[in-house]
Amino acid sequence: MDVADLPLDDEFVAHFESQGVEELYPTQVAAVEAGVCNGERVLAAIPTASGKTLVAELAMLTADGPALYVVPLRALASEKFDEFDALPGVSVGMATGDFDATDEDLAEHDVVVATSEKVDSAIRNGASWVEALSCVVVDEIHLLDAEGRGPTLEVTIAKLRRLTPDVQLVGLSATVGNARAIADWLDAELVASDWRPVDLKTGVYADDAMQFSDGEVRRVPAGEQGAARALASDVVEGEDGQCLVFVNSRRGAQDLALTLVDEFYATPADVAEELQSTARTATGVELARCAAHGVAFHHAGLASEQRRVVERAFRDRELKVIVATPTLAAGVNVPARRVVVRDHERWNGSEMEPLSVLEVHQMFGRAGRPHLDPYGEAVVVAESHEVDDVRERYVEAEPEPVRSKLRSQRALRTHVLASVASGFADSRAAILELLDETFYAHQRREGGGVDGEDANDDVDATSDDGGEEETADDGDDGGIDDVVDEVLTYLDAVGMLARDGQSVRATPLGDLVSRVYVDPVTGASVVEALERASTLPHVTALTVLELVCDTRDMPTVYVRDDEAGQVSDAAMRRRDELARDVMDFDGDYQAWLDSLKTALLLEDVSEGMDVEQLSEQYGVEPGDVRRSVERAEWLLTATESLTEHVDADLSAVAAVIRETRDDLVAVDV
Ligand code: ADP
Repeated sequence: MDVADLPLDDEFVAHFESQGVEELYPTQVAAVEAGVCNGERVLAAIPTASGKTLVAELAMLTADGPALYVVPLRALASEKFDEFDALPGVSVGMATGDFDATDEDLAEHDVVVATSEKVDSAIRNGASWVEALSCVVVDEIHLLDAEGRGPTLEVTIAKLRRLTPDVQLVGLSATVGNARAIADWLDAELVASDWRPVDLKTGVYADDAMQFSDGEVRRVPAGEQGAARALASDVVEGEDGQCLVFVNSRRGAQDLALTLVDEFYATPADVAEELQSTARTATGVELARCAAHGVAFHHAGLASEQRRVVERAFRDRELKVIVATPTLAAGVNVPARRVVVRDHERWNGSEMEPLSVLEVHQMFGRAGRPHLDPYGEAVVVAESHEVDDVRERYVEAEPEPVRSKLRSQRALRTHVLASVASGFADSRAAILELLDETFYAHQRREGGGVDGEDANDDVDATSDDGGEEETADDGDDGGIDDVVDEVLTYLDAVGMLARDGQSVRATPLGDLVSRVYVDPVTGASVVEALERASTLPHVTALTVLELVCDTRDMPTVYVRDDEAGQVSDAAMRRRDELARDVMDFDGDYQAWLDSLKTALLLEDVSEGMDVEQLSEQYGVEPGDVRRSVERAEWLLTATESLTEHVDADLSAVAAVIRETRDDLVAVDV
């Protein structure tokens, strides 16, 4: 089947042909046969690089009205925006920031690219463009099982289906163990295939050899230099190919890249110069030095500009090797001849745990560039004693099934409040009815979520909010009702919902917390802290920054042992500015020091300290600063709205919040 045979205007056919897309891939033919151009719901569970974007474009271009393309990460939104914006005559909008805006002007676009949080927020705020949608494409829909983000995605899809019952849903997924269950939930036709445009050989590397599953064994002696370096050099020097190496930490990525500098792969000088010119920290200088040798590292600490340069230079073959943390495997299009998974375990905060099969397969999927490589090859590095286990787990086994993470207090607290506040439910029964339309409920009905011995292992059991307990892993026997009841009790106790018999309504505070898109626990702690702040002798930027950093919606910067004294001193010295009682501290003091350090960092950012100094003083990288600043801006906005709900006079505090936020917005990080 050719692109010219599709029900598309000539200008689109010409556009695709100009990009070398003339004949459809078999995966795309299957999607067309499943009705993707006729408004049918389709779930495409197909490997990386098998042409999912065109499937999405066919759905969006043939839809009767506006389309929404949901991405899991902000970083992916701009890549997709650029791709769709290149379509002739198509107007594209992007919604990723400012959680509490309705963005009515998005209604003017043919295609809107948004994160699931943004769509959720738009629905909470009654954005009318959502109801006008004809087509919704959900990229990386297998992330339904991600903590935090997954529950938001499934509840958002359930709400979208309520608001627009006839909407065409198209899910794009990696190959997962239970694609059929996701398709059934969406009422979609399943297109599942292992077809790839370039053949992929997979295997393990151990005992000085790549041992592929097709039986081929290729010797690559590791020697003194170690497996990853030997494998990278082998493919770059021996085959003029490129190599992606996945490791489990930022430091690991930088260290390996620096050892590869000794190999020196020829590279055009301008990549290194470009990176040198953006290098504002020691890490940036290291990156530029590596790039001069044809090597780069890639992790979340880099500034987005640095990441873009590295990805572009690798795609253009100017760089030969990227050593990356797993973030690069998620959706960024950087194929290489060889993929090496050096670390198949990672630190989860308390112990080393194995990477999921799905994650490793997504890394594998980056191997093989269409038209450039005869085939891709991907190996996991294993010790001699674990070869069989590693082969069985990552090479021979299927990826694990996707399992809903909705059954947790953390997820349900925010979604129960929002469904009441935005009019989806006005009673306990109505809440359960809405939740009955989620993937969680579907899976439970089908037995898919409870068929394994670890069916409920992933339920969020963390409790870091001052004594309020999360749902424990209790084997899932009680269904979701009991968690909903716990959540209703909590929301009632903090004055966000009011119950009258079976009926439930949101209070003005609950309504606001839902709309400003913060966790109700954050909302409640901010209200309490604001009450204390109203009595402080000095309200400064530090006051309001500490207030937002001391919430569970703010990821904090870790205080190293050798810094604890210094941060603690700052707490004593500046106690008049802090809403927390430093002299008689109630709670986890060590964890609070992390919040205070984050607040001190943001204070310096707002006063214009440059990233080099921030990096030296706080041990943070540009990517970290960027994320902290974005979070703080959003939480300050939410906090300012919440000042209206505190009886005390907070006009002075609100003014400091506005000033601090404006200062943060003004800095270029
Ligand atoms: P996925 O999203 O499945 O990882 P993409 O949609 O990004 O994959 O496609 C990978 C590459 O294949 C892109 O460069 C795209 O232009 C190219 N491609 C997609 N479909 C075709 C086709 N039918 N013929 C030739 N190239 C194609």
